This record gives sequence, structure tokens and C-alpha cells, in this order.
Amino acid sequence: MVFSLLFALGFSACAKTASDSYFSEQPSSSKKEYEIFRKNIALEFENQTPKQWGENATGVKTKLDTNEKVIALTMDACGSPLGMGYDEKLINFLEQENIPATLFINARWIDKNPKIFKTLASKPQFEIANHGLEHKPASVNGKSIYNLKGTANAEELIDEIELNARKIESITHKRPKYFRSGTAYYDEVAVKIANKLNHQIIGFSILGDAGATFSAKKVKEAFLKAKKGEIAIIHMNHPESQTAIGTIEAIKELKKEGFRFVRLADYKLK
Ligand SMILES: [Zn+2]
Repeated sequence: MVFSLLFALGFSACAKTASDSYFSEQPSSSKKEYEIFRKNIALEFENQTPKQWGENATGVKTKLDTNEKVIALTMDACGSPLGMGYDEKLINFLEQENIPATLFINARWIDKNPKIFKTLASKPQFEIANHGLEHKPASVNGKSIYNLKGTANAEELIDEIELNARKIESITHKRPKYFRSGTAYYDEVAVKIANKLNHQIIGFSILGDAGATFSAKKVKEAFLKAKKGEIAIIHMNHPESQTAIGTIEAIKELKKEGFRFVRLADYKLK
């Protein structure tokens, strides 16, 4: 329940759409080109009706395909009104210890933290991934979860993925390859559309902080259950939470046990 509440807080509605504000900064021709691009992809999937809705829809990658003693640390920055923060303690620790991680960043968080975003993106140990334009669950027919309405149709889903991918690429000169939706919920057609947009959909196998609501002890316990090749999810946008303390303690222990931390791009996913 707490998890669902936190996910719900990840969402905020606004009159001017995020798509409008994205194109207000682009040449007028680019919006028309984009609309044709979006329409063509939506048409390709228009006759597909999803049957699944969840964190493990067909095609969602939740583990690394390896028998090595490695863990992929993934961290979300959701950019909701209460989730614009930056967990400096956590990131500083990762930098000092040279622990690689994949950072799933929402467009609104980038707007709020432009300098920090650029700095993080410039560090080879961190890999920037796509956490959507408005942090909506990934649906082609407006399914909801945790009282959060998902993208209403294929076109809105394409906006959610593609416009944040373009935003990230315009800043980092590197297009993201991985997408995690707000709430990490998907239908299987949404997964296929994301693949069409050259993104792999990333779930998780270790729920590290449940939307930054876990105590340090619970965060640590979650990590210490890790097996080979798992993908852990925590949040880097809640410095007030106990995520950093629990994660730092867990990483120290896991390293002693012989685990290495890696980025998603370092392994094939399954
Ligand atoms: Zn999020």
C-alpha cells in the first residue's frame, strides 16, 4: 500500500502538456515530422489488443543473462512534485567506490536538476536510461494502477518514451536504450512499441526501497537476498529517505561476499 501511495505521488497533471513544452523549444518543422513518425508507429500496432497488465508483461527484462556474481543497480529519478530531490549521499558513495549504475531519469527531473543531470551523464560509471516524459504507466488503452492513469493510447505512449529519449539525447548526445515506465507497469503491446522505439523495457528482481519508503534495515535486507544476475531498483530522488544508508551498508556487504556491480549495458538481459 505504501508503495502504491508513493507511486501515486509520482504523478502530477498539468494543463499544458509535456509534449507541448518539448516542442516549444524545437523548430516548428520538427513537430510535424514527429507527428508523422508517431502516427506511423501507432498505425502499425492499432489492431493489437493487450491481454496483460503488470510488472512482468511479456518482453519485460528483469535479470541479467549470466551466471557471474553480478548485480545491476538501477536508480529512478521520478520527477514528481515531491520527488525532485537528489540523493547526494548515495551518489557520492557510488562515485567514491566506483560502483557503476543505470540511472532512469524522468524529463521533469532533468528540468529541475539540469546541472546535476549533465554532470551525472558525463561520468562513464553511470548509464542514463529513460524514465518517461510524465511518469505514466505504459498502456495502449489507458489502464490504471495505484490510482495512476496510464498512457491513454499508442500515441501518448510514444510521447512518453520518445520525447524523453530525444530530450536526453539532445543533452547527452547519446540516445537511451532502456525504458522503465512510471510504476514499472506495462501491457505487452506497450512493450512491443517500446522495442520499436529501440528501447528495452526494464523491470526488476530486487525491490530495493519500495518507492523510497523502506527503512534502512529493510533496504539492506532486500539487497542481501541477491542472487547472481539480479536487477535491483531503488530511488535517487528522495534524499530524505533511508535508501542511501541501507544501500551503502548492503553494497559493502555484497562486495565482501564477492558480488560486483555492473550497468545494464554490460550484459545481455532476460
Ligand atoms: Zn518513478
